[in-house]
Amino acid sequence: MKILVLNAGSSSVKYRLFDMSDRAVLVAGLIERIGEESPHHHYRLGRADPIDVKIAGHNHQQALQALFETLSACAMLNDPSELACIGHRVVHGGEYFREPALIDAQVIQHITEVIPLAPLHNPAHLLGIQEAIRQMENIPQVAVFDTAFHQTLPDYAYRYPLPAHLYTEHGVRRYGFHGTSHRYVAEQAAQCLGKPLSETNLITLHLGNGASVAAIKNGESIDTSMGMTPLEGLMMGSRCGDIDPAIHFYLSRALNLSNEAIEALLNKDSGCKGICGENDMRTIHRMAEAGDDHARLALAMYAYRIKKYIGAYFAVLGRVDALVFTGGIGENDAWLRQQCCADMALFGIAIDEQKNLNPTHPCGNIGRDDSRLAILVIATDEELEIAIQAMECLRNRNHSSR
Ligand code: ADP
Repeated sequence: MKILVLNAGSSSVKYRLFDMSDRAVLVAGLIERIGEESPHHHYRLGRADPIDVKIAGHNHQQALQALFETLSACAMLNDPSELACIGHRVVHGGEYFREPALIDAQVIQHITEVIPLAPLHNPAHLLGIQEAIRQMENIPQVAVFDTAFHQTLPDYAYRYPLPAHLYTEHGVRRYGFHGTSHRYVAEQAAQCLGKPLSETNLITLHLGNGASVAAIKNGESIDTSMGMTPLEGLMMGSRCGDIDPAIHFYLSRALNLSNEAIEALLNKDSGCKGICGENDMRTIHRMAEAGDDHARLALAMYAYRIKKYIGAYFAVLGRVDALVFTGGIGENDAWLRQQCCADMALFGIAIDEQKNLNPTHPCGNIGRDDSRLAILVIATDEELEIAIQAMECLRNRNHSSR
C-alpha cells in the first residue's frame, strides 16, 4: 500500500511517497520556487543520489503535474490506483479537528474558515489539496492537522486571561503546533519505555528552527508552549517566544513601528538571531567557541528558557516518565541537552554525559542509571506520522461504512 504525503506551501511543495508495508520512503522530494523565475524539483528515489531538475512551475497545478509525472516516469507510481490515499499536512484546524479528516466539501470549508488564524499556511495547503483532488480525483485525500494533537488541552490551559468574547467570537485561545511531531515521538517514547501510551506521562521538546514543548499526560497533550500562533513559548531561531506583551505597545509608541514591522521583528529578527545575529544553532556554537559573547548569551538564554518550561510542566504533570528531545537541535545538540538537564536533581533528572554524546538509535536513553526518569533522544518523522494517521483515518472510515 502506497501513501503520498504532501506539504504544500505558498511557493513550495514537499512530499514523500511511502510504501506502508515496511514504511520505506520510495521517493522524497521538494518542488520549490513555484511561481518564481526558475522553479526546481529536487527528489531522491530511495537511497539513490539526489536529482535536481528545472520544471515549468508557474503555479501549484503545474507543480503537482510535474510531481505525478515524475512518480510515473520513475515507475514509483505506474497507476494512480496504487495510491491508498494522499495525506495533506495542514497547519491549522482550529477547534474543528481533533483527529485527521477525510477531505470533503465540509472539511475544505472548515480549513477555509480558520484562514485568519494561519494566513500564511492554510491558503497554500488549500491550493495543494484542491489541485491534488483535481489531478487524482478517485484517490481519498486526508488532512492531518498540526493543531489536532493539542485539542485535548483543558480550558484552563488553552484560554488566555482576556475578555471572554475574544474567545467565543474570535477564537483567541492557545491552539499549539508541532502536534504531529509531539504525537509521533510520544508514541515512540512509550514503545521505548515498554508502556502503553495511554499510561505514559512525558515532556516532549521539539527543538528545530521553530521550537515547542508539550506536557503529555496518559498519552494526551495537556499543555504546550506555542499559543494562538507559533510565536509564543520557547526562544527560537528567529522568533522571540514569550515576552511581555506590552513591549508591542512600547515599540509602536516609542519607535513608531507599524504592526507589520513589529510582526516581522518578532518573527524574523528576534530569538537567537536577535541576540547574536545568527539563527542556525551550529553557527551559534562555532561563534561561541570562537569567543563571541553574543552567541554565548543566545545559547544561555535558549537553554534557560527550556529549563523553565521543563520545571513548569513537571508541576503540571506530577509524574514524568521521560523527557524527550527531538527536532534538529534536540536530536543533535549534546551541549544543549546537557544544559537543559543540568542541576535538575530536584526533579530526579540525571543525564549520563557519555551516553549524551552518542545517543543510540532509534531511541537512546541518555539518563544515568540513577535518573528517576528516562531522558530520550528520538528522531522525529512528521511525514511518516502523517502517513500513519492518514492510513488510520481511512481504516476507521472503512469500518464505520460497513
Ligand atoms: P525545521 O524546524 O526547519 O524542521 P530542523 O528540525 O531541521 O528545522 O532544525 C534545524 C536546526 O537544527 C538548526 O538550528 C540547525 O543548526 C540545528 N542542527 C542541526 N544539526 C545540528 C547539530 N549537529 N548540532 C546542533 N544543531 C544542529
